[in-house]
Amino acid sequence: MSDTPSASTEKVNLLGLSPAKMADFFASLGEKPFRAQQMLKWIHQYGESDFNNMTNMSKALRAKLADVCEIRLPEVIYHDISNDGTQKWVMRMDGGSAIETVYIPEKERGTLCVSSQIGCALDCSFCSTGKQGFNRDLSVAEIIGQVYVAAMSFHQQGEKRAGRITNVVMMGMGEPLLNYDNVVDAMRLMMDDFCYGLSKRRVTLSTSGVVPMMDKLGDDIDVSLAVSLHAPNDELRNELVPINKKYPLEQLIAATNRYLQKLPDKRKATIEYTMMEGVNDSLEHAEQLAELMKQVPCKINLIPFNPFPNSGYKRPSNNRVYRFRDHLINAGHVVTIRSTRGDDIDAACGQLVGRVADRTRRSERYIKAVQLDQPTRIQ
Ligand code: SAH
Ligand code: SF4
Repeated sequence: MSDTPSASTEKVNLLGLSPAKMADFFASLGEKPFRAQQMLKWIHQYGESDFNNMTNMSKALRAKLADVCEIRLPEVIYHDISNDGTQKWVMRMDGGSAIETVYIPEKERGTLCVSSQIGCALDCSFCSTGKQGFNRDLSVAEIIGQVYVAAMSFHQQGEKRAGRITNVVMMGMGEPLLNYDNVVDAMRLMMDDFCYGLSKRRVTLSTSGVVPMMDKLGDDIDVSLAVSLHAPNDELRNELVPINKKYPLEQLIAATNRYLQKLPDKRKATIEYTMMEGVNDSLEHAEQLAELMKQVPCKINLIPFNPFPNSGYKRPSNNRVYRFRDHLINAGHVVTIRSTRGDDIDAACGQLVGRVADRTRRSERYIKAVQLDQPTRIQ
């Protein structure tokens, strides 16, 4: 996260402890479980990182804490609010790479798009994160740190700390199921009442289809699920989402249904379908998709492709997108089109820090900010 003096790297970073691990930590100090809850509140609800200010803990405990642990926060190197209210934070991670987190306000909700890895190993053909390859997993502190930073920033903007974040989607950089333990711990913090208190229905994990981990997820937690489909048949999906060769559609659909069945309540999966002109946006594709999706309780989210340099793909015209949508609706599906409001922002989901569709000189400032002391390539 932020640059840290070497002495403090030995210390436990409390920002990254799940509720259960925080309880273990305080137990290891001989403290009662309620101390863990107090600490979670100090960190995640009050944004306090100085033990001295934690006045409901004894002086002796505060001194002990300062000895063995720390609250190490992400370093924000860029923050911008666009005209339509979308906000973007770029944070520098240990090792010098940067990740970005985007907040998208809508009428009745505010969604934070959170990253799970730096880069991604899965190499989907249309995704700029995938094109950059895999760098490393994010730690729990780095994942929850994105929520912390947004919540703190709203507080500084005069708002209730976490109040504006009603939803979190794990749709930033990376495949969350390939950084399983850290992502699950971070999601537990998002949903904990002493932290951000988000409803399990409003925390969504998006996966390109790592089938065995979908089954594990269903055993461990009950967040909402989004599946990145992008193609209605194996031949095309093998090309667009290479992990399909390992876990083809039939297995993916079965795993999605198993996940939904394990949930304690009735919920639908979100099926993400990035549309690329002349690739997966024809009426035949819509027909195949309509048929295939009869097998899963779902809502379909169409995402017009966000172009990036040398991608080789084009965004379809609005007419083609509407035609595709209408076909699905006529076949009885619930369909939404991801808003293109602020292309720069949509780009953040599944795309990289280095790319900004921009009209002003914002991208210049932005790239500059990201490149500060950047020992490795920009992520
Ligand atoms: N790895 C996970 C989560 C991150 S990607 C997954 O694949 O589901 C989240 C979403 O970003 C994907 O569903 C994909 O639809 C979207 N995405 C990636 N590149 C895109 C692009 N160039 N245009 C539009 N959406 C894109
Ligand atoms: Fe990875 Fe998701 Fe991008 Fe595919 S779409 S390369 S799984 S981040």
